[in-house]
Amino acid sequence: MTQIHDNEEMTHQKITVIPGDGIGPEVVNAALQVLEAANVPLTYEFCEAGASVFLKGDPTGVPQATVDSIRQTRIALKGPLETPVGYGEKSANVTLRKQFETFANTRPVTNLPGIITPFSDRNIDLVVVRENVEDLYAGIEYMETPDVAQGLKLMSRQGCEKIIRFAFETARALNKKSVHCATKANIMKLTEGLMKRTFESVNDEYPDIEGHHIIIDNCAHQLVIRPELFDIIVTSNMNGDILSDLTSGLVGGLGVAASSNIGYNAAIFEAVHGSAPDIAGKNLANPTALISASIIMLRHLELFNEATSIEKALYTTLESGQLTGDLAKSNPALGTKEFTNQVIGNLGKSPTQYTSRPYAPVQIKKTLPKYSNTPHKRILAGIDVYFQSQAQAKEIEKIVQSTIVSGPFTLDCIANRGSCVHINDTSDTHPIDLYRIRLLTNDPDAETQIASFLQAFGKIIHWTHLEKLHQFESSKFKSEKGFTSIAGNH
Ligand code: NAP
Repeated sequence: MTQIHDNEEMTHQKITVIPGDGIGPEVVNAALQVLEAANVPLTYEFCEAGASVFLKGDPTGVPQATVDSIRQTRIALKGPLETPVGYGEKSANVTLRKQFETFANTRPVTNLPGIITPFSDRNIDLVVVRENVEDLYAGIEYMETPDVAQGLKLMSRQGCEKIIRFAFETARALNKKSVHCATKANIMKLTEGLMKRTFESVNDEYPDIEGHHIIIDNCAHQLVIRPELFDIIVTSNMNGDILSDLTSGLVGGLGVAASSNIGYNAAIFEAVHGSAPDIAGKNLANPTALISASIIMLRHLELFNEATSIEKALYTTLESGQLTGDLAKSNPALGTKEFTNQVIGNLGKSPTQYTSRPYAPVQIKKTLPKYSNTPHKRILAGIDVYFQSQAQAKEIEKIVQSTIVSGPFTLDCIANRGSCVHINDTSDTHPIDLYRIRLLTNDPDAETQIASFLQAFGKIIHWTHLEKLHQFESSKFKSEKGFTSIAGNH
């Protein structure tokens, strides 16, 4: 459904197919059988990614041949890829998303005929539009001490602007009236706040769409209380990952939830679910999610009639109550193959409840947003220095005071996990062995003296990293007008 604005014609006859891990090959095969039975004019290039690739020693999980194939076809239909949990290699999914900068992850959910849930009669028809490459999922993590791990939540104005525009354009393409931007800007004022502020700014360009900001936890709550309230929800990467599993649950669960990963040069279509190793190879998996992903892919390719034909066959099957085990309530369950055969047999039929609706291409311009807020001036206001120590804060203060005595810095705070633990401290904080000191300065030459301070400090204490605290002068964004400290909280 997405139209890329460049001079090349969109003629993707060949697509890359990645069967994936666990139940992946079964559900991908089901989707391909349906596409073939519906005479969709596609050819397939089969490629590897995921567990088998990790096993061969490739730490990315995605071999070059797969990257080359997607680079050429620009379209991939993908089964789920297994990711080692909590150690070792990166996620092969994240590798693919970053490789092709598929910044927009869309996860539509709608009430499906024949699938009875506590929300069946609630008129749910919404899309979660998730930023797909930034945020905590950029995977920038460090062991600061043997006992303290730290991850970087990295969000850019450019990344926020791209996904927010995509959300508004999705609303227009689907003829929807509102976009909710769900953030945790009340707590993470700079990262999540950047998304909120960018949303408010971009919203001005879409007067035909209602824009609302909502705190992400209230969004989760409202989705369960009144899901019909939402049309499009745009949110950051991790929030979107979690929220979209919730929205899948509203309409029947992971077995029915599809998604697309859209970039300027490539798009990857898949189920929301993972490799479900517990049911892999047992003919138990529900292929609805992958078949639905292929329907979204056809609309992306502007094969609207083919998409509608397969969607009608799928809905006719669901409506008949002939369901796989994850959904069958009282009827005997169908296996993956039998369900697929039903869908194929229903090609050409229409469900009683099918509402046809207009699909238009999502308009995304193939130009990166400009750095609209380049600072005119950058002033060093201080430094935050992180270090490992099991000493008491009072002892740390003595050390710090002895190393800053003749320099441009003054000690503002000694902090532990974001709480000030010494100067004016009245908290019950249980300190961990990663501390931070905030040193402030108004000396214009302080920058040149950071290295000598670190050298003296580092002789006594093992410091792990340093953040410079800057004040930027910005012009465009009203909420950040003038000199605004962005040094962050204690
Ligand atoms: P999961 O694979 O989505 O499975 C969770 C549970 O959901 C399954 O145990 C199964 O429940 C049910 N389920 C999922 N898909 C189903 C389907 N098509 N039909 C019927 N039931 C289905 O989540 P996970 O166990 O957390 O993750 C397993 C692996 O997948 C991990 O390595 C993870 O990293 C990876 N993963 C990959 C992707 C991706 O490639 N995009 C996404 C998510 C997770 P029952 O136990 O009730 O049968």
